[in-house]
Amino acid sequence: MNQIVSPLDIAPNDGPLYASRKKVYPQRVSGTFRRIKWGLMGICLSIYYLLPFVRWDRGPTGPSQAVLIDFPNYRFYFFFIELWPQEVYYFTGLLIIAALALFLMNAVGGRIWCGYLCPQTVWTDLFYAVERFIEGDRREHQKKDRARLTVRRVGEIAAKHTIWLLIAWWTGGAWVLYFADAPTLVKELATFQAPVIAYVWIGILTATTYTFAGHMREQVCTYMCPWPRIQAALTDEWALNVTYRYDRGEPRTSVKKAAALRAAGDKAGDCIDCDQCVAVCPTGIDIRDGSQLECIQCGLCIDACDSVMRKIGRPTRLIGYDSEVNLTNRLAGKPERNRVIRPRTVLYTALIAVVGGIMLATLLSRTFLAVNVLHDRNPVAVRLSDGAIRNAYTMHLLNKRAFDRTVAIDIDGPEGVQVQAVSNDSLTPERPTVTLKGDATTEIRLLLTVPSSTELAASSPVRFRITDLGLGEVAMTNDHFLAPQ
Ligand code: SF4
Ligand code: SF4
Repeated sequence: MNQIVSPLDIAPNDGPLYASRKKVYPQRVSGTFRRIKWGLMGICLSIYYLLPFVRWDRGPTGPSQAVLIDFPNYRFYFFFIELWPQEVYYFTGLLIIAALALFLMNAVGGRIWCGYLCPQTVWTDLFYAVERFIEGDRREHQKKDRARLTVRRVGEIAAKHTIWLLIAWWTGGAWVLYFADAPTLVKELATFQAPVIAYVWIGILTATTYTFAGHMREQVCTYMCPWPRIQAALTDEWALNVTYRYDRGEPRTSVKKAAALRAAGDKAGDCIDCDQCVAVCPTGIDIRDGSQLECIQCGLCIDACDSVMRKIGRPTRLIGYDSEVNLTNRLAGKPERNRVIRPRTVLYTALIAVVGGIMLATLLSRTFLAVNVLHDRNPVAVRLSDGAIRNAYTMHLLNKRAFDRTVAIDIDGPEGVQVQAVSNDSLTPERPTVTLKGDATTEIRLLLTVPSSTELAASSPVRFRITDLGLGEVAMTNDHFLAPQ
């Protein structure tokens, strides 16, 4: 007889489904990886905060901001590049390259993005630096949190949150500067004359930065971000990840006991169980427990352990960037091997080169003149009193250059076709010309007329050719000339 088993009976010893957060107090550490992180943090924050103020000359009519997302005029400016809405596919290309670069980083050196470059890591690191500056390093901060509140302590907490909010506010402020002329918007913001939407976005960005970097910190990486899960599925045995070299570290023992064991010819691990690697970890984990989803691979435990190893006179890099292959080789008494060039890294690099190459080629060869036409639908064709057939079209002309220019319109179509442009003073019936405003779209109506002597098919192909009379640039588009039903 089948027995009904309660879920509670199946796993009586399983842990709770939800574990409340243990506050992390990462200890200050110095070393190679800490210096790299400070350097990258400085570069990333400088770019983010200062880029909107970098100027770029685009002539008297163009915006002078080097990087600008101009929503009202549907333009994106990036130094010498100006993208129109029709060229949104460049962003798709950029996203593909970004994803492939992430895969490549992962294949070479694990979560390089997470540990050094991700905005969550950079801002959290900055907020931790402020916290340590005001409330002291790990031990001092823990002690203060356990002690009773004093006026001085309340002042410290208030000062920390004030500075956090100021950083968060400036982060939100810098964000909106990418969407309008930065110096002008700063003045408008300061005098409360900026658009309401700017204040709304600053408020949203201030709140999210303060919450994510000040309060949620490592929980964003552990619970909210999908990349750790994807990264775990993409890694392989050759990828270099921050690893505790347990073959060298175990069995853990004190410095004295290790010396005695070695003197007696026995094996002693290099790990002295000092927990310094845990103390500095911004996610509060113990790297000696193996690779973990929580590990953002920031390398700070490497710095902490290296400094311990130097103090006790043992070789550094008990914790270091290492691969599963090396670990297996060392255990088998074989030499270490590193393979950066392997099928997946070659594939990712090749794909980045191909996508980047296509984007560059299209960017360099793109035209600054574009045309498209829309055939009138109601009616599609009209028979005139002399028997001629007329079709009407709406033509959109895009002048992507910053200056005005004059173009001529030529038609290749059924025999004897004549073109006439409507509502434009500068037109001639034989070969209409039109002046296009710089960096703008011009719309005109065109009438094509085919004489009654021409034998017309139900639908005949028509080519609209636009020629810049000054620069000689040409743009074309095709449509059809329709006979009445
Ligand atoms: S275990 Fe080491 S590398 Fe991983 S997050 Fe902690 S300090 Fe950084
Ligand atoms: S810092 Fe190094 S020696 Fe200390 S516990 Fe961590 S691995 Fe062991």
